[in-house]
Amino acid sequence: MSIKHNLDNIQSKIPDHVTLVAVSKTKPISDLMEAYSAGQRIFGENKIQEMAEKHEQMPKDIQWHMIGHVQRNKVKYMAEFVSLIHGVDSLKLLKEINKQAEKYNRIIDCLLQIKIAEEDSKFGMSAKNAQELLISEDVSVLKNVKITGVMGMATFTDNVNQIEQEFKRLKTTFETLKTTDDSLRIISMGMSGDYQLAIDCGSTMIRVGSSIFGARNY
Ligand SMILES: *Cc1c(COP(=O)(O)O)cnc(C)c1O
Repeated sequence: MSIKHNLDNIQSKIPDHVTLVAVSKTKPISDLMEAYSAGQRIFGENKIQEMAEKHEQMPKDIQWHMIGHVQRNKVKYMAEFVSLIHGVDSLKLLKEINKQAEKYNRIIDCLLQIKIAEEDSKFGMSAKNAQELLISEDVSVLKNVKITGVMGMATFTDNVNQIEQEFKRLKTTFETLKTTDDSLRIISMGMSGDYQLAIDCGSTMIRVGSSIFGARNY
């Protein structure tokens, strides 16, 4: 199946209020251009260097989302152009993003990554830490970042019930945080295998890779 066919198929299944991020990590520019020609404008990458190279080579009306774990010393390579950073999980990282955004006179949108999975290999903050961060003086002085929502990754499992519980946990966390900060808008959850379930649980942004571009060979 063509990339355009896959994109059309997914778009036909998701409601208007849900944003599709096409996760293009490891894929060649030619694949991304096929998606671009089919109308896709939001791409997600998980390595900063790879994203910066693709940004260089591709049309400038693309919105680039960093969906992977962010190393602080690499924020400078994406600060000029990144449109949303999904995986923010510490004040230290937020401060670095703020510092680099300031150099370009930009405000960079960020999502707080919340740990919803049981396995401990996944990054993310507890709901409690996210709440504390959101109300802290330390964050209120950062003028070049804006926290616009939350992101989560479910456990890698076939157990649909467990995934559903974890998605619901993220939705609940979002609602709680929203009572503190009414400007929060985004719940980034759901990938190729579980985006329908994620949407049923309240997702407003899905990150889909293999269902668009095919399996990845690492
Ligand atoms: C790779 C990746 C995805 C997409 O995964 P698929 O199963 O290929 O849809 C989504 N989110 C994150 C954080 C990823 O690293």
